[in-house]
Amino acid sequence: MNTDLETKVQYLKGVGPVKSKAFVNLGITTVYDLLTHYPRRYEDRSVVTKLSEAKVGETETISGILINVTEHNPRRGLKLLKALVNDGSGFLQITWFNQPFVKKNLKIGRRIFATGKVNYAYGGQGQFEMNPIIDYEVAEEQAEDTHKILPVYMATDALPQKFLRKLIEQVLDESIKIPENLPKHLQLEYQLMDRKDAMYKIHFPTTMEEMTKARYRLAFEELYLIQCGLLVLKKQSRDKQKGIRHLMNSTLLKKVLHKIPFKLTTDQKLVLEEIYHDMESSLPMRRLIQGDVGSGKTIVSVLALVKTIENGYQGALMAPTEILAEQHLASFTNLLDSCGIRIGFLSGKLTKKNREVTLEKIAAGEVDLVIGTHALIQEAVQFKNLGLVVTDEQHRFGIRQRALLEEKGQLMPDVLVMTATPIPRTMTLTVYGDLDVSVIKQLPPGRKPIRTFVRTSSKRDLIYQFVKAEIAKGRQAYVVCPLIEMSETLNVQSATEVYEELTGGIFRDIECGLVHGKLSSKEKEKIMLEFHAGTIKLLVATTVIEVGVNVPNASIMVIEGADRFGLAQLHQLRGRIGRGQYQSYCILISQGKSAVAKERLGIMEKTNSGFALAEEDLKLRGPGQFFGSMQHGLADLKIADVLNDLDILLKARDAALKTLASVDDLRYILEILSLQYKDQFMKITDN
Ligand code: ADP
Ligand code: MG
Repeated sequence: MNTDLETKVQYLKGVGPVKSKAFVNLGITTVYDLLTHYPRRYEDRSVVTKLSEAKVGETETISGILINVTEHNPRRGLKLLKALVNDGSGFLQITWFNQPFVKKNLKIGRRIFATGKVNYAYGGQGQFEMNPIIDYEVAEEQAEDTHKILPVYMATDALPQKFLRKLIEQVLDESIKIPENLPKHLQLEYQLMDRKDAMYKIHFPTTMEEMTKARYRLAFEELYLIQCGLLVLKKQSRDKQKGIRHLMNSTLLKKVLHKIPFKLTTDQKLVLEEIYHDMESSLPMRRLIQGDVGSGKTIVSVLALVKTIENGYQGALMAPTEILAEQHLASFTNLLDSCGIRIGFLSGKLTKKNREVTLEKIAAGEVDLVIGTHALIQEAVQFKNLGLVVTDEQHRFGIRQRALLEEKGQLMPDVLVMTATPIPRTMTLTVYGDLDVSVIKQLPPGRKPIRTFVRTSSKRDLIYQFVKAEIAKGRQAYVVCPLIEMSETLNVQSATEVYEELTGGIFRDIECGLVHGKLSSKEKEKIMLEFHAGTIKLLVATTVIEVGVNVPNASIMVIEGADRFGLAQLHQLRGRIGRGQYQSYCILISQGKSAVAKERLGIMEKTNSGFALAEEDLKLRGPGQFFGSMQHGLADLKIADVLNDLDILLKARDAALKTLASVDDLRYILEILSLQYKDQFMKITDN
């Protein structure tokens, strides 16, 4: 058979309908998928210990020939299986307890590899015995096993380890075509092994050093191709459409600045300068503002929007939730109305009539600024002349969604995205490689650090008495309800229960509100307005308040069932308090008694830095989940490790920058990308 990377695994020898279905469950349909099902780790048998050198009490890996196998039944309920092994330097006896089925594997004359703890074989055969045995494997053939280092894959019942090894080896041994996909000169410059070579050696290395080199090549390839894709995206939006050159006039801007009740921080000013610089250039802006919760990103985006409006264009601001969109509407109206700026609002929940009127106004240019949710990217929305698009809390949107909004302008509108998810530099480059990055590091002055406490539910009464006392002093409080994953209905139920318990008991005489995702936008809006105004003192909520909500007088947050949340999410929630002049308190109620749960939540007590927390979260949950929750629109990395491969990433990025500067290399790489990353970079290959 002529196999290549596109060949479907179902046609491979030894793969029947059952196995091919099992492959699909692992996300494997083609030979390419199979070969990039990289080993998770290796069993290194090149470092087997000679029996003459084995140390009693140590865990060792040995290898020898099976010379005798016996079964014993010393008493009822105990079955012993004993195998005697000789490696030329000594004898060892391996014992299995109550695993009679192992016997069929133990063919005399075959080589066995075994790992376990070595003891003296008192009274048994041989000099040593291995017990307990951790792992063993008998060679398939009579002959010596050729592979000393064995790959260990993510396997399933239907696709056992041995089968995967055999199949992958079979595929690689056939004259399979694995074309090189990196430009030759890059390979030389960065000393990368051939692709086919690397593919073979990542699965069946003869030394660990060889494996490391193969991994380097493949990780480089992966990061390089993704960087190329992202840079091409960036270049295309710069080349294809002409951007808008904003002018430097600033009467409207001055007017708005006068209305702001505070002074911008140095970081805010610096970031604003970077933004204005981009906007005044004829290249389209593509900038990410990264700043911890409460660092004051909103006002920076407002001032950017004012600039586009002042230049006669329309601005758009897209928020990930209704509540956040509503809140932006409320605070922007407050600030901008009196300066003559006309604001429109779009969300999925507008009445048909209302929606039509707003759409007409947007198309006619009778609205200067449109604030809204995802509704903004629907087809019917036509702008007259869109100048700047701001997306708040970008980590909630995919690349695709952002691109849709950008396509709404005749000229390429400027783009500003904001995120509070503090992510390490490796990730910024991988996920946001197509954007320039500005960072707001400092918080506005006068903030008192939030004090965070982790308590068990036995302290609930005391906690709520404390909350009551703070409310008596004029403060407001949030109570966030346990997260019930996968079910919004159950979340609502849990919030309703907490609300009823609290309002029926300790908060009987206090104005309370309940907000969750199942309320209509009208109801949500009403409650949030009352909380803003201070009529509602205590707000029981689900995670609908997670992002962006800004009520400076609220200084207490109780999070029920805190162990169900990720650290990054807890940090986002906690970011709702500590926004005013008062000392703020965050109390995490934990049901979990495990040491891990305690340690995890304990980190929240120790630090207020979103960056430190994100790193901890990454370590605890792994990049897959962290990445996944950001919905970045790119596939998970198959081999590179975003945390530990920063040096490879930086080299790959350099290489990608050079590639983009060379016409021939670029043409070559575009072809590769359209083959290998079809779905991820739709925009590139679409045209
Ligand atoms: P985030 O970056 O999380 O979106 P916001 O933009 O909502 O933060 O700002 C948080 C709070 O800080 C708001 O109440 C805002 O008015 C206030 N704020 C922003 N910048 C400053 C500043 N320079 N001085 C004082 N308060 C500020
Ligand atoms: Mg915000």
